[in-house]
Amino acid sequence: MYHLIFVVKIKNNMRVCILGNGLSSLALAKALINKKIYVDVEVSKNKSKLNKSRTLGISKSNLDFFNKKIINIEKIIWKLKQIHIYSENLKNEKLLDFKSKEDQLFSILKNYELHNNLEKSLKKNKYFKTLNSKEKKNNYDNYDIIITTDYFSSITKKYFNKQIIKKYNSSAFVTIIEHHNILNDVATQIFTKDGPLAFLPISPKMTSIVYSVDNSKKYNIEKIEELIKKHNFKYKIKKINNIESFDLKCLNLRSYYNKKFLAFGDLLHSIHPLAGQGFNMTIRDIKILLKIIENKINLGLPIDYSINSEFENKTRHKNFIFTNGIDFIHEFFNLERKMNNNTLSKSIQYFGRNSSINKVFISLADKGIYI
Ligand SMILES: Cc1cc2nc3c(=O)[nH]c(=O)nc-3n(C[C@H](O)[C@H](O)[C@H](O)COP(=O)(O)OP(=O)(O)OC[C@H]3O[C@@H](n4cnc5c(N)ncnc54)[C@H](O)[C@@H]3O)c2cc1C
Repeated sequence: MYHLIFVVKIKNNMRVCILGNGLSSLALAKALINKKIYVDVEVSKNKSKLNKSRTLGISKSNLDFFNKKIINIEKIIWKLKQIHIYSENLKNEKLLDFKSKEDQLFSILKNYELHNNLEKSLKKNKYFKTLNSKEKKNNYDNYDIIITTDYFSSITKKYFNKQIIKKYNSSAFVTIIEHHNILNDVATQIFTKDGPLAFLPISPKMTSIVYSVDNSKKYNIEKIEELIKKHNFKYKIKKINNIESFDLKCLNLRSYYNKKFLAFGDLLHSIHPLAGQGFNMTIRDIKILLKIIENKINLGLPIDYSINSEFENKTRHKNFIFTNGIDFIHEFFNLERKMNNNTLSKSIQYFGRNSSINKVFISLADKGIYI
């Protein structure tokens, strides 16, 4: 008795157009072409210059995913083993201490190096094409899905203008300090009276700074330099490089998609950088979108824009809770600054010493609420 098994393989000719060419766009494009999906990236009209002072902290599980499913970035990362959190309100006593049993808790990299690596590997790939402004036809009929990461595209303005937004009236000042050679594998965050200040090591001789302060105090570059020097207790600083600033907001899109059109990256959700989670959220989104596509391919189903609603159902509520969690941390320390007492920091310190609670904090920073 013979059993005949027919394997029907549906040819995957899916075509995706991604609007914008920031980190979210290029990382997503690379993840999709690795699945042999054709991707055209439409370059933003106002091409923003790559900022050399910006860095990103990527969690351990997101780095593993990035290396495996997007592109191997081991050569451009700097590994951190611990994160120490202090509060100026507790006279710079340690509030929390996060360690990993493995060799890394978080990794830091320079945004422009990641951008360049992604761009280089995409350019070589036959599934990838860049559309410059002349080639743009604003006709998306040939694509199965159009994904926008670009705030300024007409598609974004047309379909994705309903946001839940909270402007912090704060700016993040970022720079890279150069210092004497040290064993530089511990990140430090200090909740100062002016706002959260992070020292994020990127090499034995260089550390990236992210200092978020209230706009109402009208800090200038000189004042920021003075505050960095005041709070630094670790590094013998040789040079403070160019300081740049970014406006901060907490944002969630009400709807992630409209038929064939899907929003992605910071356009879907923007958060305060105090926990270094913005791009980590996008990596988790890419992981989920890939899983949905993989499931369709495995079941022999065609890949069409029905994946947009599936993606929204799986991510929107979790992203909303996560962004609000980060906003809560921001408001919590804001309140303490305004109250001018240290009861809240003391209670955080107390709970953080409990090893189970400490593990929950580490897991949330690593995997978000997709535990
Ligand atoms: C100070 C700071 C520190 C951060 N640290 C971390 C961290 O440690 N870890 C982490 O996970 N995340 C961090 N983030 C968040 C992370 O940087 C963002 O999530 C990520 O860069 C978003 O990429 P994107 O491609 O979605 O958006 P964008 O980079 O904004 O790009 C989207 C599109 O819009 C275009 N565009 C952007 N700005 C303009 C403009 N002004 N004019 C015209 N076009 C424009 C771009 O060219 C691109 O096509 C931090 C953010 C800030 C502000």
